[in-house]
Amino acid sequence: MYNFGQHHGRPCGQSFMIEPGENHNNSKRETAFAHSDAESDPEHPRKIIHIDMDAFFASVEQRDNPRLRGKPVAVGGSRERGVVAAASYEARKFGVRSAMPSVIARRKCPELIFTKPRFDVYREVSLQIRAIFAQYTPIIEPLSLDEAYLDVTENLQGLTSATKIAEQIRARIWAETQLTASAGVSYNKFLAKLASDYRKPDGLFVITPEMGPILIEALKVERFHGVGPATAAKMNRLGIFTARDLRGQSLEFLQEHFGKSGSHYYNISRGIDHRPVMANRVRKSVGAENTFPRDLTSLEDMRAELEPLAEKVWRYCDATGVRGRTVTLKVKYADFQIITRSRSLTAPVADKTVLAAITRELLATLHPIPKGVRLLGVSLSSLSCDQAGDDPQMILAF
Ligand SMILES: [Mg+2]
Repeated sequence: MYNFGQHHGRPCGQSFMIEPGENHNNSKRETAFAHSDAESDPEHPRKIIHIDMDAFFASVEQRDNPRLRGKPVAVGGSRERGVVAAASYEARKFGVRSAMPSVIARRKCPELIFTKPRFDVYREVSLQIRAIFAQYTPIIEPLSLDEAYLDVTENLQGLTSATKIAEQIRARIWAETQLTASAGVSYNKFLAKLASDYRKPDGLFVITPEMGPILIEALKVERFHGVGPATAAKMNRLGIFTARDLRGQSLEFLQEHFGKSGSHYYNISRGIDHRPVMANRVRKSVGAENTFPRDLTSLEDMRAELEPLAEKVWRYCDATGVRGRTVTLKVKYADFQIITRSRSLTAPVADKTVLAAITRELLATLHPIPKGVRLLGVSLSSLSCDQAGDDPQMILAF
């Protein structure tokens, strides 16, 4: 299962996610935007924009509720095991961060106002901003509801300046949503993403091919997109703290210690990143899960909690036309051990009742359950249709 907690997603108590699968190029892109697909050519650097909405969920809440403006706001559950899904800039001043347990957030900022996420509204805004992007390029790779890479090397407006495009997009986002976005402009994805962080909020930053290698030299490996805490710790143990340290290592050394990712690290430490912006992502699974305020011990309680999860997965399937053959139940025990049980049908699951029945059967196979259950998840995979838009992951929690 895609672990969105450590990546781009915003974890919260209950969540809904879609797992990214293989990337597929669409034909339009291959014909009309042939250059963009190719490995970056030093003669003709690509033009990549990374757009990132500022404190997205929290900003939407402040926009729609004047009472919250100028106040420290956390979107997420305030209950015991709740997690902050997004924090307003006022809350960040107190050290409140997304993915932080709500209990800690409240300790850091006693005035913190918790507000429930409204994913339907975030999804709507997300579609609005996608429509703006689409006026410039069909090569849009969303990372989450509020973040996307755009390849504008060749764009629909015939503009030569990627910076100008980024400015126009930011202005349109503001005009249409009254929300601010930050943009990073560069010649590859890694640097574009890095750049969008430089002038946040409501900023734009450009990293040119001349600037790239110099700018990242002193950058801490923790700040590299795609380097998680575990990898960063491993690098630190090997004496690698910055991009400069990383550059000091041979490709062989990095491959030996980091496998396939070794060459990626070797390249990005030099400001090189050949990954194309991937327009059509195909999903592998659709799932919903919930962490409970208290561990569940009775089978009845667990069955009761499964129902809304199956319901949520099915609601998504209904809305998008996605169908799947494989049902998976995920159980996280009180000691954090995770187990999964799956069942595959010969044909796609026909309706909500069938989905719910299979999840109950899968749960029954675990009986007697040896320890308390902290989390339950239901997902559907072996998907047969991909009409669900193009979010590599989505969180539609309530
Ligand atoms: Mg954002």
